Formats: sequence, C-alpha cells, structure tokens
Amino acid sequence: MKKRVAVLGATGSIGKSALDVIARGKDHFELVLLSSHRNGDALAALGRQWPGAAAVLSGETGGRERLFAAIADSGADITLNGISGAAGLEPSIAAIEAGSDIALANKETLVMAGPLVMQLVAEKKVNIIPVDSEHSAVFNLIENLTTNQHQPTRTEERSLQSTGSCSSCGSWLNEIILTASGGPFRERSLKEMENVTAKEALAHPTWNMGAKITIDSASMANKGLEVIEAAHLFNVPSEKIKVVIHPQSIVHSMIRTKDGAVYAQLSRPDMRHPIHAALYWPAVAATDLGRLDFDTALSLDFFPPDMERFPLLALAYEAVRKGGLYPCVYNAANEAAVAAFLAGRIGFLDISRITGYVLDRDWSTKPDDIAAIMEADRQARIMAEKEF
Ligand code: NDP
Ligand code: MG
Repeated sequence: MKKRVAVLGATGSIGKSALDVIARGKDHFELVLLSSHRNGDALAALGRQWPGAAAVLSGETGGRERLFAAIADSGADITLNGISGAAGLEPSIAAIEAGSDIALANKETLVMAGPLVMQLVAEKKVNIIPVDSEHSAVFNLIENLTTNQHQPTRTEERSLQSTGSCSSCGSWLNEIILTASGGPFRERSLKEMENVTAKEALAHPTWNMGAKITIDSASMANKGLEVIEAAHLFNVPSEKIKVVIHPQSIVHSMIRTKDGAVYAQLSRPDMRHPIHAALYWPAVAATDLGRLDFDTALSLDFFPPDMERFPLLALAYEAVRKGGLYPCVYNAANEAAVAAFLAGRIGFLDISRITGYVLDRDWSTKPDDIAAIMEADRQARIMAEKEF
C-alpha cells in the first residue's frame, strides 16, 4: 500500500524538495494534499502536475479554514509541514488531531508549543519525524543506537518516539551536539554586522533556503530555534544541547554517549536527504540522490560559537530554560523583526536588540492551550512593532 502524503507549503524551498523526493518514489507515495499561501500560479501548476491531490491556497479569503478542513479530510498517513513561521503551528495541530504522522520542517511548531504538541502527539499516538537536518541526524542516531543497545521491536521504537521522550536515552545519552554553518557573517565583528544589507544576509554559504530561515542563519537565531526544538523533541534539558560551528554543513549533528564516544551523521548539504529519511521512516530506503564523495579531499572544521557576536543564540538558551511563553515570544519577536529587516525598516543588529527587549518582561505563564500561545505571539509582535 502506498503511503498517503500531504505537503503543506508545497511552493516553498522545503515543499519543492519534498515533491522531488515524492516524485522519485512514486511507487511508494500517493500525494493527497498540496498547500501554498499566496502563490496561486505556482500552486495551480503543481495541481496540474499532481492531479490526484487536493490543492488549497490558504492566503485567500476563507483559505485558512479550507486548509484546516482539507488537512482533516486528507486521510494522510504523513503530513510534511513546510510552512514558514508561526503560521505553521495550527496546521501541525490539525494534522496531529487528524491522526497523521508529521514530517516536521516547521520548527516553529515545537518552539512555540513544544509541551502541548508533544502531549497531543502522545494522546493521538502519532509520530513526529523531524525534517530539520540537525534533528533528523539526531533522531536517526538515537534510533540506530537504541536499536543496537536494546533491540526493541519497531512498535516499541514508535511508542518511544510518540511519547516524545527518549525515556530509555537518559541512561546512555550524554549530549546532543547541533552543528551550525555559522552563516555568511561567521567571521564578522559586531561593528561589521551593523550595516549589512538584506542581500548580504541572504547569501548563505552552504544552504539554499527560504528568506526567513536564511536571515535566521545569518543571525544564528535559526540555531537558537533549533536548540529549543531539540529540547522538546528529544526531551532533554538545554544544558545537554551544545552548538558547534561547522562551516561545511556536512556533519548534520552529533550525539555523545556516556562512554565518551561521539557519533555523527554526514551527508551532502541537500534537504532532500532528511526529507527522504522522514517520508520513508521507519524504512531505510535506497536513494539516487548524490552521495558524499570521499574520493576527493574533504576537510571538516569545528569551532565553538560566539554568543557575544550572536546574542540571539544566547537568548534562545535563556528562553528555553525559563520555559512558559518565553520560547513562543522569542520566535514571534524575532519573526517580526526579520520581516522588518527584510523590508528595510531596521538594521541587522536591531533584530537581536528588539527580540531581547520583547523578552525582557514576565512571560513565565505556562500556556494551557494553543489559544494562549497564539495570544502571546500576537502580543509579542505588537511590542516588537513599536520598536521598529
Ligand atoms: P519558504 O519561504 O521557501 O516557503 C514557505 C512555504 O509556506 C510556501 O509554500 C508558502 O506559500 C507557505 N506559506 C507562507 N506563509 C504561509 C502562511 N501564513 N500560511 C500557510 N502557508 C504559508 O520557506 P522554507 O521552505 O525555507 O521553510 C519552511 C519551514 O521549514 C520553516 O519553518 C523553516 O524554518 C523550515 N526549514 C527549512 C529549511 C530549508 O532548507 N529551507 C531547513 C530546515 C527547516 P507561498 O509560496 O504561497 O507564499
Ligand atoms: Mg536546520
């Protein structure tokens, strides 16, 4: 039986890569739903290419309601969420409610509402399989090590993941080490970063991604979001999550076990690899995507991150440590500030200044539901907007 797949954010960078993986695996997958937000022409073209799939444009009047209804009706076995930003949270919830597994690229889902989402995932007995390359690496490293150590059945592994906690990892997992390219300003001083343009910030050295995440990579907010994402996804305290700069983006992340060994996952920097792994999971399927080539010289460098030059990374650690609404507010303020930077309204360093300013009040309330999260998101944006 073919796996039924929904692709949300199909016109984006992740969405296109996902459709390429699905097209290469037509015998394995049936595409049931496509969505985009404003890009109706591109969605219509995809609709012609994939006539069996429903297509929803969420940005037109009533579009968001149609998207939720389509997610509920899709019958998808797995929903790949490639929507950018906070707008991806509620579609993730809708898919989980509908009993679909989630191939999660939209890291905001876990950053904004990690505890609530993981609880819902457990209740609905679905799985979150990360697509973010770092988390995909860690997920597969943990899964492979777990298999080797305890030889659980697939079902047990699934339930381990669906509880969201790597409960059996506590005894042997010592540390998660997330790699970061360092972005285009890796070697710039704060002074030099003051006047950088959006064009410079959009020139990522190793990855070709959507605009928002590319700016986040330049400021290292992306790694900050990923620290929060990892804390929830793998149920580990942030002290056990390290970040290391690795400019080549070939080692996608590492884990350290209590015996001191460090295990790494490597591939060429191509998001189709983690998407392939997520869509075929739990199978390990052959792929004709390019292989990492050791026939030519290959150098891998690692440096510690500089929290002074990249304060958004330090702010993320603080936000996840404080919990409550802090992670949601971190995301909202940063997202609003990045949009203002891209629109030429503020400078690059204002992104971290404004995010820090918005975080600098009491956001410690523990949200009871998604509505409380969306309200904090709204308030944080209003507060940020006043500073632009
Ligand atoms: P893009 O900007 O390239 O694509 C975003 C997609 O989401 C588009 O299809 C867009 O539709 C749709 N969209 C935009 N706004 C909304 C909205 N308000 N409601 C519903 N849909 C919307 O983003 P990326 O593909 O780069 O990133 C997507 C997600 O994946 C982000 O959360 C990002 O952090 C994460 N991610 C991305 C990686 C990458 O390599 N790009 C790597 C790891 C994670 P339209 O085209 O109509 O505007
Ligand atoms: Mg990533």
